[in-house]
Amino acid sequence: MYGAILGDIIGEPYEFDGGDKTKDFPLFDDCPMFTDDTVMTVAVCDAVMKAGLDADESEMKSAIIQSMHRWGQKYPDAGYGGSFYQWLTSKSTEPYGSYGNGSAMRVSSIGWFFDTMERTREVARWSAEVTHNHPEGIKGAEATASVIWLARTGSTKEQIKEFVAKEFGYDLSRTIDEIRPDYCHDESCQRTVPEAISAFLEGESFEDVVRTAVSLGGDTDTLADIAAAMAEAYYDIPEELIFKCGYYTTKDMFSVFRRFDKLRIGRVDKHNLLRFKKAQESDFKNAVKELMAGCKRSHWMWYVFPQLKGLGLSDMSNFYGISGIAEAQAYLDDGLLGSRYKKLARLLLGLESDNAEEIFGQIDAIKLKSSMTLFDAVDPDNMLFNAVLNKFFNGERDRKTLELLKQ
Ligand SMILES: [Mg+2]
Repeated sequence: MYGAILGDIIGEPYEFDGGDKTKDFPLFDDCPMFTDDTVMTVAVCDAVMKAGLDADESEMKSAIIQSMHRWGQKYPDAGYGGSFYQWLTSKSTEPYGSYGNGSAMRVSSIGWFFDTMERTREVARWSAEVTHNHPEGIKGAEATASVIWLARTGSTKEQIKEFVAKEFGYDLSRTIDEIRPDYCHDESCQRTVPEAISAFLEGESFEDVVRTAVSLGGDTDTLADIAAAMAEAYYDIPEELIFKCGYYTTKDMFSVFRRFDKLRIGRVDKHNLLRFKKAQESDFKNAVKELMAGCKRSHWMWYVFPQLKGLGLSDMSNFYGISGIAEAQAYLDDGLLGSRYKKLARLLLGLESDNAEEIFGQIDAIKLKSSMTLFDAVDPDNMLFNAVLNKFFNGERDRKTLELLKQ
């Protein structure tokens, strides 16, 4: 859900083909603003929590209708589409056959609440049907919630692509470069959701997905909202962006976020990355402080600069040992762990000394080398790790790490 809100805020300045169809733009402009996408995302989330996760169709639908009216009236100038605004301000609560992309841009929280795909799709369908009861409007909501559910429960992008093409019939065969030239503002589900899913599939990180979606042009806030909601479930969101999410919205929205965080089911942690997060909770700050002073003093090497399993013999190095490429990739993709690791690499590059033994001591200098060798092998395009290896080890890699990776 945070992804949806960030996508909305980041995409907003470029809506109505107002951008240059490029991935190269400032992530937040001078005056970041949320729009109808955010208000309705919050409204649906609030409604599902109020109705209760076990609510039946009529309870859920009436909660959603009420909540959308309440939040819509609270934020009447958020940029709603004409028909939706009419629905919002009229006494009638009947659906009006819409296939607009509004059903997909507001649905993301539903991807996070339920154990099964069936229940996720059912509630997504209800959330669409209260206004967008055209088959395309319903399909857009169900497809979006399904992708989020699949992404957070550990499906690969290939599996997600296959599922969506088979289940919903969307054409996901085009690359973003193929879609972009002819793509223009279109507020229908059928011309927004497949494109947003393509941006999610092609993007390489949370931020890259948002940039890819915005680069399509058209209804950029909604495209980015949908794509980023999926990216959040697949990659998680860097901590500083979650903070921005609270900063650029309102207090009443924030209280919905807090309840959402308590109730939602987390992403599947296939590699038990939580062990690093727990260990870093108290020690990451110390690591930063010590390295800034140019000298490591306390013991945090295992979980701050993790290396491949099998290199060390102690219980600690075994417990925090990384099992292989997939886990190392997940570590870098993790919003918190990946951004912290890169932060430390930058910090090391900024130090005056280029003597790793002086900073880390003899044994931990070797661990630094093997850790950087590992992450450089996983993400060779990221020049940071390569630069650390160049600066401290004359560009030499740890031979044992490379050998283990080959096995
Ligand atoms: Mg909007």
